[in-house]
Amino acid sequence: MLGGRYFLTTYGCQMNVYDSEVIAATLDSLACYPVEAPDDADVIVFNTCCVRENADLKVYGRLGEFKPLKKKRPDMIIVVAGCLAQKDGEAMLARFPHVDLILGTHNLRDLRDRLLEIRETRVPMVHVEQKGADLELPVRRANRFQAQIPISVGCDEYCTFCIVPFVRGRLKSRPWQSVVTEAKRLAAEGYRELMLLGQNVNAYGDDLEPPMDFADLLRRVGDVAGISRLRFTSPHPRNFSDRVLDAMAEIPMVCEHVHMPLQAGDDHVLRRMNRPYTREHFMDLARRIRARIPGVAISTDIIVGFPGETEEQFENTLDVVRQVQFDHAYMFAYSQRAGTPAMRINDHLPEEVKMDRLYRLIRLQNDITMERNKALEGAIQEVLVEGPSKKDATRMTGRTRGNRVVNFPGTPDLQARLVNVRLVQGYTWGLMGEMAPEPACASPTGRSPVGNSTEVASAEPTPAVI
Ligand code: SF4
Repeated sequence: MLGGRYFLTTYGCQMNVYDSEVIAATLDSLACYPVEAPDDADVIVFNTCCVRENADLKVYGRLGEFKPLKKKRPDMIIVVAGCLAQKDGEAMLARFPHVDLILGTHNLRDLRDRLLEIRETRVPMVHVEQKGADLELPVRRANRFQAQIPISVGCDEYCTFCIVPFVRGRLKSRPWQSVVTEAKRLAAEGYRELMLLGQNVNAYGDDLEPPMDFADLLRRVGDVAGISRLRFTSPHPRNFSDRVLDAMAEIPMVCEHVHMPLQAGDDHVLRRMNRPYTREHFMDLARRIRARIPGVAISTDIIVGFPGETEEQFENTLDVVRQVQFDHAYMFAYSQRAGTPAMRINDHLPEEVKMDRLYRLIRLQNDITMERNKALEGAIQEVLVEGPSKKDATRMTGRTRGNRVVNFPGTPDLQARLVNVRLVQGYTWGLMGEMAPEPACASPTGRSPVGNSTEVASAEPTPAVI
């Protein structure tokens, strides 16, 4: 046993959040327990991201800050895991010799043994082997009512701006039987909401023998009794088939929310990004999703300032945003990533042009988000209560089936319950509401009866996410 206290920090996407649950379970199995401050910890783990340059800089900045602490407490073990560890490996150790272990994304299974080894030898180690990630490892869930289930890892798309295929590898799907078994176990343990996770979920199963498609997987998980909500992230617009749309529309537990990355609204830019769809295809898909699933919320990711993007091409992105009316968007300025094909495209735009475009996009999208939230004022919707609001402990915070944040006056005993909330006022961040009297109303489509105030086990602390 290792024993002692650990501090775990997570950067990046949902997949990293899931990996941190695996890391937490590994540390639990070594009789370690979590603490809130790194100064109190015997083991510090950074689970890192490298999707944007900013994420690298943040991690490297923090690693530098820990040098004096490590000098003061040489017995402390510092671990860097995740995508940045996978990308930079030996170079990271050369730059930060006070780090003890650099662990790749494919090597989480080995964390336990490496930690025990380092405790004995005190020799720093880089363990980055590209051997395919393991999706069957024990996890310690961040809470007892929402759970993520990885269905695949890696990606075969090779979008030119993206480092993921290089650090996570090619698509590797998990057998459907294993996904369904995990869903059944989580349902039996009282979990209310499941999220199926993958870098490109609707390419799921292309690599399985016999092949299987994502729509079939959704239907199989949708048959599991006892789960109230099923979500997934992220689909690629290219692979979004009518079969998936039908499954979403027909399975009551699938939430009325689609996160579908647009990335750019101009066909030339999309081609340079190696995104094999057109703006028309995307807009048509959004129209079909809205027609098939009334009340659905659509969110997206957008990158502005891709190399060579002209003002006119950027305007085309704004035009798609106006036409689709996304409910929410994650918006970024293009960030150069060493090792990606986009790095080799000449014509990188000046920082001020990228930032100007980003702010213009954010202003437009914020107006749309606000308008769409305001349009819901007066409606009663089902909210899964996640706990007290961070800003005001007299309010609870949760999410609708459309993934909108809702805050409302309430007490902590509501945590993990599905309740009906009257939406009172819309903002850019979400909505304020008030508890609505029973009997329950339904989801935006009216297809999901609300299991009012059903009690499940209370939440445990979540690993920090930056
Ligand atoms: S689909 Fe493109 S952006 Fe998404 S993970 Fe794959 S390569 Fe990256």
